[in-house]
Amino acid sequence: MDKDRIRRIAARTALSITAVVFVGSIALFLLWRDRPDLGDISWPRAVSEELEATDVTITWLGVATILFDDGQTQILVDAFISRPTLADAILQRPVSSDIPRINAAMHDFRMRGLAAIIATHSHYDHAMDVGAIANRSSASVLGSESTANVARGAGVPEDQILVVEPGQVYEFGQFTVMLYESPHAPIGWRGATPLPGTIDEPLEMPAPITAWREGGSYSVVISHPQGTSLVQGSAGYNDNRLDDVQADVVFLSVGMLESLGREYAGNYWWELVTATGATRVIPVHFDDLTAPFGDIRLAPRFIDNFVKTAGWLDELRQTWDKDVELYLPVFGEKVGLYSLEGPPSS
Ligand SMILES: [Zn+2]
Repeated sequence: MDKDRIRRIAARTALSITAVVFVGSIALFLLWRDRPDLGDISWPRAVSEELEATDVTITWLGVATILFDDGQTQILVDAFISRPTLADAILQRPVSSDIPRINAAMHDFRMRGLAAIIATHSHYDHAMDVGAIANRSSASVLGSESTANVARGAGVPEDQILVVEPGQVYEFGQFTVMLYESPHAPIGWRGATPLPGTIDEPLEMPAPITAWREGGSYSVVISHPQGTSLVQGSAGYNDNRLDDVQADVVFLSVGMLESLGREYAGNYWWELVTATGATRVIPVHFDDLTAPFGDIRLAPRFIDNFVKTAGWLDELRQTWDKDVELYLPVFGEKVGLYSLEGPPSS
């Protein structure tokens, strides 16, 4: 083959590769921007016009991070304030807790009486900041051995770390907390748990987000004389596992629920809502994990479609639980949890 011909083939190949990369990038960019609209969900927003100083309140801080407060004692379920970017996730760049952001959030949301930080499991979008927040409070970190290792990696003293026993009752002020083992949503390859396994050594940051292994998941039941809440941090369920739990409010994780199908969603609803007798359901974990803290947007449609999932939840409510009200949480809104009204009786 003469040199000119080789050069022509090389130039053509380079041009084709450039064209494919260019078109692929544009397609991905467009797919990434195509997102369902939160405005298409007609549920009432979870807001309170008036709050009594003694009300148990919650403040939703995105994904499954929820601050409970009865005016004297605060409990934080999950701790995800740092927000590694999409590039951090794709390129597996080592990430660390965003300390200025955590300081600001603890100030803005008045986390002065934190008694406990409970991780529903140890993936980064639930447990990443347990250590940084514990170090800025006197709160105990509760969770699996993996969550304990996340806290240890951040230098949290051992007497501030509690590896939970499922079924054991923990008391914090007037709150009592119980954790039940629960499967993670089967949203990994062929129905597996994504990033499975445990964190067996103190997890020191910076670390890539894949370092936060699941470490076992829990349903968290938080009771108070005013009422009982169940927080489900991931859309997994076990048949009859929560049979002895009665809840007023369920925080229902719906991340990737659409990918598991309508039938799965029905079973999940049944075990978490119908079986516990809850009358108010607040879906969580529907927002884009890679968005900055406080910026609530839905995930791209090709990854998850929360508007479609919300339609399923409406149907399930109509079928089994007409006396349940579904609320959409609003980032950073302090809500009187047990004064939220059920649906108007018709
Ligand atoms: Zn997870």
